[in-house]
Amino acid sequence: RTKQAGRNGFQLYCADMNERSMRQLKLENRLRIALSEQAFTLHYQPKIDIQRGEMIGVEALLRWQDPELGSIPPDEFIPLAEELGLIGDIGVWVINQACRQCRHWLDEGNRELKISINVSPQQLLRRDLTADISQALQQASIPARLLDLEITESCLIEDADAVADTLHQLRDQGASISMDDFGTGYSSLSLLKRIPLDNLKIDRSFVDGIGQDKNDAELVSTIILMAHNLGLKVIAEGVETPQQLDYLASLNCDQVQGYYFSKPQPATEIPALQHRDQWR
Ligand code: C2E
Ligand code: MG
Ligand code: MG
Ligand code: MG
Repeated sequence: RTKQAGRNGFQLYCADMNERSMRQLKLENRLRIALSEQAFTLHYQPKIDIQRGEMIGVEALLRWQDPELGSIPPDEFIPLAEELGLIGDIGVWVINQACRQCRHWLDEGNRELKISINVSPQQLLRRDLTADISQALQQASIPARLLDLEITESCLIEDADAVADTLHQLRDQGASISMDDFGTGYSSLSLLKRIPLDNLKIDRSFVDGIGQDKNDAELVSTIILMAHNLGLKVIAEGVETPQQLDYLASLNCDQVQGYYFSKPQPATEIPALQHRDQWR
């Protein structure tokens, strides 16, 4: 390769580009039919209340298993689904599936669990999310107070007022609203005041630094204080070590989520986890 690099460099580059755009094209085509081929599933990750040491909810996380491409991570296909305008329909499927699952757990006789759903900007801006959600709740016959919606700061860039209106409607119905990945986006703190919020999720990248990076630890402490002063509950995501948990508990962080407790699991695994009584 070294000897021929000059001569073949261009060709190699082209082949590489081709391979990449071929995969991209394939990914797009497969994603367009994934819904109709039932290639999606939801996994669920426990949310633990630190004070009570109890699992009080789960976050629904989308999984895509393609027969040819294998399993594709959400960080790869969600942005693509947004780009292709597919996230609206996929989002409706997620909402319905999560509500049906919630109903199923209740029918099995399990304790009530709150279910968190990730919502992307397009769902808030281009769809009647309130209608989609009330329909799903009604069909599954579950109360709105069992539903939590995770939005990101990117939802507020385009039209924060319209988004605030929708969130108010959802909250009036009884759902709660969480700000996901807090601290990584571009929104200003003043935006936090303009939208109705119940919970703030501290991004994993800050939690990661606890015990390693003094600035991260300070930021976590400051975010928790600020959120509590604003009347919000705080959830730390990506907790992987007992040291991180201890630090968060000492700051009165309300809830935790992370591999230290459990990775996202198929729906069938959740009731057993729910019956585990001590999480700390
Ligand atoms: P997110 O909502 O911030 O979800 C948390 C991500 O962190 C999940 O990745 C979860 O598996 C992972 N995680 C949780 N605990 C730990 C930990 O202790 N260590 C590490 N290293 N990771 C942890 P996942 O499932 O790959 O999802 C990635 C992102 O894709 C989500 O970030 C969310 O933004 C998006 N996403 C997933 N499902 C949906 C969905 O149904 N709709 C929409 N719009 N977005 C979704
Ligand atoms: Mg989330
Ligand atoms: Mg997050
Ligand atoms: Mg994230």
